[in-house]
Amino acid sequence: MSETGDMGLVVVGAAGRMGQTLIRAIHSMPGARVAGAVERRDSPHLGKDAGELAGIGIINVPIVDDPLPAFAKADGVLDFTAPKASVEFAGYAAQARIVHVIGTTGCTADDDAKIAAAARHATIVKSGNMSLGVNLLAVLVEQAARALDAEDFDIEILEMHHKHKVDAPSGTALLLGEAAAKGREIALKDNSARVRDGHTGVRKTGTIGFATLRGGSVVGEHSVILAGTGERITLAHQAEDRAIFARGAVKAARWARGKKPGLYSMRDVLGLS
Ligand code: NAP
Repeated sequence: MSETGDMGLVVVGAAGRMGQTLIRAIHSMPGARVAGAVERRDSPHLGKDAGELAGIGIINVPIVDDPLPAFAKADGVLDFTAPKASVEFAGYAAQARIVHVIGTTGCTADDDAKIAAAARHATIVKSGNMSLGVNLLAVLVEQAARALDAEDFDIEILEMHHKHKVDAPSGTALLLGEAAAKGREIALKDNSARVRDGHTGVRKTGTIGFATLRGGSVVGEHSVILAGTGERITLAHQAEDRAIFARGAVKAARWARGKKPGLYSMRDVLGLS
């Protein structure tokens, strides 16, 4: 571990779609190096070189299954895995008192409470979307929701992702929903329509609706629609390459280095808070 020089980063879930993208991003960005690569115990990728698997050639970082020794000699962890895994990794990051960047989505309130507890000792940046574009979009959505009255404009959030995604609505859709709810000064959890099916009755004024599409290889598309009588505003973002999330995660780790333990968001990192 070092306070200066390149930041040593461990990628957990190193064989996954985002894991491999993170290995490539760290390798191509100044100020950071791959310090370790972790996968789960029964992974068929254990022992392989993380760089070779990610398509950048051998970097002499084998994929291992024990996170603790890897965390002990690292400055930070980049984690796009699964909710239960991220909770466990947050505990280890707290023990090692290092930076933990969490991109994993689909966390329950209980998972988030455990991650917040770990943030007493680890410096954690967690966001459902690590891209500059979506975080800027969230600021615009908050402003639009504040300016346009709930009596006059209904807010609906539409998202589409590739067919392998396991959680819905996406973490980004929820992030945008939270931004709209903040603008309206309401709690999203009490004012959202997450699914509609059958005889739903008329739309309840002031709710924020979600609709989910899944298919093919779509990296991530989100639209926030403000629908009034006779006019409609659409604020949208299309992710074309997972590299935008990976570069954002590396940027978050470098921003968090040396900051005091706590739970931060990507809006903090980008100065959009
Ligand atoms: P993925 O391809 O399934 O990758 C997840 C990887 O984590 C897999 O290799 C998986 O291994 C591994 N893993 C799971 N549990 C583990 C554990 N306990 N220890 C070590 N490795 C473990 O999924 P993905 O498309 O990369 O997405 C991963 C997460 O990132 C999802 O929650 C997704 O929504 C989120 N995401 C967030 C952003 C953002 O900007 N915040 C952007 C894109 C994706 P197995 O295959 O063996 O389970």
